[in-house]
Amino acid sequence: METLDNTPFHIDPDEVLRRAHLAKADADTTHTARELIEQAQQVARPKAVYEVCYVENKRPDSVELAGITFTSRVLRVNLDQVECIFAYVATCGTELTEISAPAGDILLDYCLDVIKEMALRAALQHLSEHLRAKYALGQTSQMNPGSLEDWPITEQFKLFELLGNVEEVVGVRLTDSCLMIPQKSVSGIIFPTEVRFESCQLCQRENCPSRQTSFDPALAQRYGLEE
Ligand code: SF4
Repeated sequence: METLDNTPFHIDPDEVLRRAHLAKADADTTHTARELIEQAQQVARPKAVYEVCYVENKRPDSVELAGITFTSRVLRVNLDQVECIFAYVATCGTELTEISAPAGDILLDYCLDVIKEMALRAALQHLSEHLRAKYALGQTSQMNPGSLEDWPITEQFKLFELLGNVEEVVGVRLTDSCLMIPQKSVSGIIFPTEVRFESCQLCQRENCPSRQTSFDPALAQRYGLEE
């Protein structure tokens, strides 16, 4: 398992205030928010771990990665022409969970949440740039256990088993109910692809604030998810 714990992360206070809807907050709230941001900048250590795995034993609805069987029709189809993938966990880091907003202050609590989200995005960006440079990757896509019904969130246990001691190395713990702690963490696989894939193309959830692209019924049919 490779560790990336040198993620560049520079917080723009004005961007945090804008994203946290605090740009026009009163002077006291803005002042405390800026203090929180400064504290976060000092301690934040977003990071990621990954493992390179060969794709083996491709069956109709499953594949083996590092000898572990993952069951998903969509994953299987996406890895049809793929020999190697990158399994990963990225996180905002436990350091940010050690600072807190003043008790009961929902606005500043949300501000801290925005910072953690930005730290997680920085860890994912750094991981992506690292893989592109080290393995000369072209276009890639990714899948995350739980993003589609077809690849249930319980498959995260296998991903953590594949990676090894994720908690010891980057502090991310997987609970019995498949929740990652810190919550601003993401697990998944990155794979080379000629045609970009987004799970949202196969997801019918309405009003999802994180949707990247619209549902594509024809594509769902090609994946064997629709009659
Ligand atoms: S639409 Fe929302 S829930 Fe569905 S895959 Fe995309 S981000 Fe996930």
